[in-house]
Amino acid sequence: MSDHSAPLTPESIAFRSALDVIRTVEPRVADAIGSEIADQRDSLKLIASENYASPAVLLTMGNWFSDKYAEGTVGRRFYAGCRNVDTVEALAAEHARELFGADHAYVQPHSGIDANLVAFWAVLAQRVESPALQSAGAKHVNDLSEDDWARLRRSLGDQRMLGMALDAGGHLTHGFRPNISGKMFEQRSYGTDPETGRIDYEAVRAAAREFRPLILIAGYSAYPRLVNFRVMREIADEVGATLMVDMAHFAGLVAGKVLTGEYDPVPYANIVTTTTHKSLRGPRGGMVLCDNELAEHVDRGCPMVLGGPLPHVMAAKAVALAEARQPGFRDYAQHIVENANALAEGLGRRGGRLVTGGTDNHLVLLDVSGYGLTGRQAESALLDAGIVTNRNAVPQDPNGAWYTSGVRLGTPALTTRGLGVPEMDEVADLIDSVLRGTTPSVTSSGKASKAQYTVEDGLAARTAERAADLLAKHPLYPGIDLS
Ligand SMILES: *Cc1c(COP(=O)(O)O)cnc(C)c1O
Repeated sequence: MSDHSAPLTPESIAFRSALDVIRTVEPRVADAIGSEIADQRDSLKLIASENYASPAVLLTMGNWFSDKYAEGTVGRRFYAGCRNVDTVEALAAEHARELFGADHAYVQPHSGIDANLVAFWAVLAQRVESPALQSAGAKHVNDLSEDDWARLRRSLGDQRMLGMALDAGGHLTHGFRPNISGKMFEQRSYGTDPETGRIDYEAVRAAAREFRPLILIAGYSAYPRLVNFRVMREIADEVGATLMVDMAHFAGLVAGKVLTGEYDPVPYANIVTTTTHKSLRGPRGGMVLCDNELAEHVDRGCPMVLGGPLPHVMAAKAVALAEARQPGFRDYAQHIVENANALAEGLGRRGGRLVTGGTDNHLVLLDVSGYGLTGRQAESALLDAGIVTNRNAVPQDPNGAWYTSGVRLGTPALTTRGLGVPEMDEVADLIDSVLRGTTPSVTSSGKASKAQYTVEDGLAARTAERAADLLAKHPLYPGIDLS
C-alpha cells in the first residue's frame, strides 16, 4: 500500500482491508476483484440490464449472514437462531411494500428467473391446486388419493400462458420452449404492431379471448416504450386470467416514480416479479410483490422452487431499497429516462434507425441493418472501441436470435456514474461513428459475412480514447481508492 496525502474514505479503507484479507488466502481472487473494478471504471457500459450498486450494498453482502440457513418466513423458520435474519428480511420486505405500495413482498428469490418461478407456482397453487384440494375434501397434497394426485399433476401441466414475443422484447422465461416455463405451459405470444413497433392492445385482447390463458404476462427486456397496465388488467379480467408483470428491467423507474398511473404495474397486476440489480441498483437478486390473496402461496417459494434464502443478499436488498426510498433516487430515475431519450435523439439525428423511433424508458433498440451490419458485428466493433452493449433481435428479425439485427443500449449504469444529456450526444456520436466505419467482410462465396467485419484504420483506438476522456470526467466510485 502506498502513502496517500489525501485522507482515506471509509469505503477505501473497507475495500482495501477486504482485499488484503482475501489476498492472504488466494491472491489471484483478490487480483481479479481489483481488476474487475478497473475494467468497470474503464468501460462505457451501455448494457441495459446492468448498473453499479453502492458501496453500502456491496459491503452488506460480505458478512456472517452468508452462514445462516433460514428456510421458512419471518418468525416461522425451520431453523433455530434466525432472529437477525428475521430483522433484515422483515426490513427488506417493509421497504419494498412501502416503496412500491404493494400488499405483500417476498424478498427471498435469488434472481429474476427464480422470482418468475415462484410466481408461476404461486398462481398454479392458487388457481389449480387449491380448488382441486377443496373438491377432494383434502387439506394437503399428501391427503389426496393416487388418482386425485395424478389428475392434479396432469392439470398443473395443462395450463396456458400468454406473453410478449421474444423478438418484440419479451423474455425467455415468459413461456418459451428453451426455458422451463415453456415446458410447463402451453404458450402463445403477442407481438408488436409492424408499423409502429408498439404493443397493439386490441391484438393482445383478441389473442387472450381466443387462447384463454391462465396467466397473462406483461413485461420485457427489450421494449423501448411504456406498457399500459390498466389495459392489460382489463384484458386479463375479461378472460379470467391472472395478470403477472415482470418488471425486472424497469423496477427502478417504478421505484423512482417515473412510471406512475397506468404505467405503474403494482396497482394493476395480481403479481409482480423483478430483479433487484438492474435499474433498481441493488444486489444481484429477485423479488415478488403480490396482493393478499396470493401472499400465502408466494411465501412457499422456498423450498417449492428456491434453495435456502441468501440472508446476506436479503440484507443488501434492505439497504438498496432504503436507498431507493430516498428523494435522490427519484432524480436518478428521471435522469435515466432523460439520458435514454437524449441518446435516442442523438442516434436518430445522425441517421440511426431506432425500433419504435425512440424511447420512453431506460433503453434504446438500434436497428443496425441501416449500417449494413448484423447485431453481432455491431456489438463486436463497438466493444473493440471500448463501448459495451449487447446484440438483440428486432421485431421480425431476418437474422435470427444469434446474429440479430439490433443492439440494445441502456442508460441506468452511465446515469449512476453521473453522465448527463450533453454526454449522451457524445456517446451517440461515438456509436454512430464506429458503426459507420465498420464494414462486413466478404465470405469466400462472395456474400457479406454475418460475423466478420473490418473497421476503418485507427477508428477503434480513436473512439476508445474519446470514451476514456468522457469517463475520466465521471469517475466510477470516486470515494474508493485501491492504490
Ligand atoms: C433479466 C430478466 C430476468 C432474469 O433475471 P435474472 O436475475 O438474470 O434471473 C427475468 N425477466 C426479465 C424481463 C428480465 O429482463
